[in-house]
Amino acid sequence: MAGRRVPAVSHEIEQPMKLKPVKGMQDILPEEVRRWQVVEERFRRTVELFGFAEVRTPLLEATELFQRSTGETTEVVEKQMFTLERGSELLSLRPEGTPSCARTFIHESVYAKQPVSRWYYIGPMFRAEQPQRGRYRQFHQAGCEVYGDPGPLCDAELIDMLYGFLSELGIAELKVSVNSLGGSESRARYRDELIRYLKPRAAELSPHAQERFEQNPLRVLDSKDERDRAAAAGAPSIIDLLTPEDSAHWQGLLGALDALGTPYQVDQQLVRGLDYYTRTTFEISSTTGAIGSQNALLGGGRYDDMIEGLGGPATPAIGFAMGLERLLLALGDLALPPRSWVALAPLGEAQRNPALTLAKSLRQHGFITEVDGRGTSLKSMLRKANAGGARFCVVIGEAELARGVVQLKDLERHEQEEVPLTTLAERLAARVSAPANSTESEARG
Ligand code: AMP
Repeated sequence: MAGRRVPAVSHEIEQPMKLKPVKGMQDILPEEVRRWQVVEERFRRTVELFGFAEVRTPLLEATELFQRSTGETTEVVEKQMFTLERGSELLSLRPEGTPSCARTFIHESVYAKQPVSRWYYIGPMFRAEQPQRGRYRQFHQAGCEVYGDPGPLCDAELIDMLYGFLSELGIAELKVSVNSLGGSESRARYRDELIRYLKPRAAELSPHAQERFEQNPLRVLDSKDERDRAAAAGAPSIIDLLTPEDSAHWQGLLGALDALGTPYQVDQQLVRGLDYYTRTTFEISSTTGAIGSQNALLGGGRYDDMIEGLGGPATPAIGFAMGLERLLLALGDLALPPRSWVALAPLGEAQRNPALTLAKSLRQHGFITEVDGRGTSLKSMLRKANAGGARFCVVIGEAELARGVVQLKDLERHEQEEVPLTTLAERLAARVSAPANSTESEARG
């Protein structure tokens, strides 16, 4: 099957190729990736303590999956998907993780194997939004999904887990907002009530809301347009219209959050942008660091109807997604664990192969080791080691090698000592673990 034919590159006028990343997408250089890894590692550690296991799904899915789950009238599906045609297939880059996980859950009949499944994912998502700080076209989310548990205890634990995770990372000024949208019956009641409320105010709404409010009145509540916000301010509360079962679920959630000591605020405007939510919705935001106006760090909620709606068995479900770019903006400077690595500097041709075998043995001892094989001067090898942030430089000279020793330079402490090859690994380990100022006397002793 062929996709759209890609036009050939024109060589008529030789112009340098544009090397900027695609609009709204970012290169992340290795130094910055280390900050990502710290956050991802902490996230994994936290969610795995709660029994979540990682799932990996494709980046591309049938467009229809998002239309049927995220919802055709949502902004994400209406305007923001990167969609491509390939032969008869219409495919979209995933704008969020929940639909893909739900599809996998059904397709793999996971429900038949275990009554409750807890999954997490970390990966890129794609939405053609107007880029600004904290809002990109390719961004990364870390999220969790729970299938088969109707809550509300599990809803509260999830919210508390996230509050704990963000607090422990050191993010201040956290605000946890919770709301309930009820199940389908409460929602239908609320829909009617909201339409009744909005109809006489239709002229005050934004043109987009005017067009859409009868189809999806809840969207008016989370519209960013000032006109819609003003109209929504006096809207009836869904909490007052919940069925007794939905109300009990809501009260159960608040009671469990109180028991856990999670600080929260009830926000009755919190409907979230996606169509599928039922009962619990929540969001955590912060105004700290460089996060700016896009201050929602994560959002989530229950989607008890999605699995059945996509053709699976009726399965209650809840999930959330956290934006990693925003999290890193909020975090600011993150203390990275120091990396002690060793640069090997062979002084001449004859010392280069011995350097390779020495590197092999140091790596077996767990030291990050690089051999400078460029055949340059010691000065230049030292410059490279310093620029790369090496803690040690091991200088391998001809006469020393003949005696079975090397010169060990501690670049951090500006010290140098001669060390036998046979004990180099132990000496490096001692230096790495020794507190500052203690090595000099040790080295002499
Ligand atoms: P959503 O999937 O829209 O519920 O968003 C969940 C979280 O993902 C948000 O709170 C943000 O932290 C993050 N997020 C959503 N859209 C973007 C975007 N375009 N750029 C960066 N982060 C985003």
